[in-house]
Amino acid sequence: MATGQQPSGERVYVALGSNVGDRARHLAYARARLATLPRTRLVKASSVEETAALGPIPQGAYLNQMVLLETALEPGALLAHLHAIEAERGRERGIRWGPRTLDLDIVRFGDRAAHDPGLTIPHPELPNRPFWQRELAELDGTPIPRPTPDG
Ligand code: AMP
Repeated sequence: MATGQQPSGERVYVALGSNVGDRARHLAYARARLATLPRTRLVKASSVEETAALGPIPQGAYLNQMVLLETALEPGALLAHLHAIEAERGRERGIRWGPRTLDLDIVRFGDRAAHDPGLTIPHPELPNRPFWQRELAELDGTPIPRPTPDG
């Protein structure tokens, strides 16, 4: 979103993860694309952290990061954008817990709660992922700067 325009939306935390190929590049791509979403502003990104893969399938370690967005998109619309960005990095869906070039998850969406299998908010894995909790804490105190009228 162009500087000076204000999405006046909600604080949304999106987790980025990658364990295939040039992992740092996949994360950088995701950050750049998230910053271009309509009615959305990328406020801040957390540190990048490497973690061992979770789940039953042996695979390479992940690079993880979390970003804070301010968005006026609805959760379902944001999720559709996240899926499109994953697909742009060649993400193949289908293997649950499998390796992935890019995984994007909505961790929190303002104070909203959703219980649909297609979209659960807050993300149900949050209590099980200490690195998400650390990243969230790192971003949580971030005030959202208000752009001045002339940017
Ligand atoms: P994943 O394998 O992590 O990409 O997630 C698989 C499915 O989880 C996606 O197709 C989503 O529809 C669903 N899902 C449910 N809740 C969420 C959420 N909070 N963020 C992202 N995906 C979610």
